Amino acid sequence: MSRAEQLKENYEQVLEELKEACVQARRNPEEVKLVAVSKKHSSKDIEFLAQLGQKDFGENYVQEVLAKQEELKNLSLNWHFIGALQTNKAKYVAGKFSLIHSVDRVKLARELDKQAKKKGVIQEILIQVNLGKEEQKAGVEEEGLFSLVEEVLKLKQLKLKGLMTLPPCWCGEKVRPLFARLRELKEAIEKRFALSLPHLSMGMTQDFKEAISEGATLVRIGTRIFGPRI
Ligand SMILES: *Cc1c(COP(=O)(O)O)cnc(C)c1O
Repeated sequence: MSRAEQLKENYEQVLEELKEACVQARRNPEEVKLVAVSKKHSSKDIEFLAQLGQKDFGENYVQEVLAKQEELKNLSLNWHFIGALQTNKAKYVAGKFSLIHSVDRVKLARELDKQAKKKGVIQEILIQVNLGKEEQKAGVEEEGLFSLVEEVLKLKQLKLKGLMTLPPCWCGEKVRPLFARLRELKEAIEKRFALSLPHLSMGMTQDFKEAISEGATLVRIGTRIFGPRI
């Protein structure tokens, strides 16, 4: 099978499985958007999926994604930044992504706000929450979440759209309580700050079904579409 045929088959299967997971969760499939995680895969792969109708792509590495954006600038795509972001890289990222999923500290939020202001844009973001505790570093811990939200809401060039999480392990059913927790936290923020957050970014190749049943609106799937990353 050619690369193109393989990608097409994987992609169509994923779309089918997403739909199926929505039906099982009694959710409208239109509420769940697929973010195809293309890190470490080629611009050619992205272009091919774009031809099949995929618009949203997720990337983790600043240099890599900026090069891809340049190569693919003729396509109208929605880019998602989903990786750990150093504060000094904020200037390269602000204004270049439809959504930044990985804001996890005040310093980074302020820098993104400053850079977005310079460029005269409103940058949409998610706050990444670390629900797995000591096993990983990325994401704000639950205890610090409300105060981070409070600070982010003061920043005029940022628009908070929801929460994101990356479970500490691929534990199948065991990640479900974490996804449920992220939804509860989103609801708690909505109530406390009297606002509406449309997005929960959760679920990857191994656990997107569980995430959908717990309310995911953005699922970030890489391996299942593109195969292993080398
Ligand atoms: C790489 C990555 C994904 C995709 O993971 P797969 O298991 O390949 O589907 C999703 N989210 C984040 C934050 C990632 O870094």
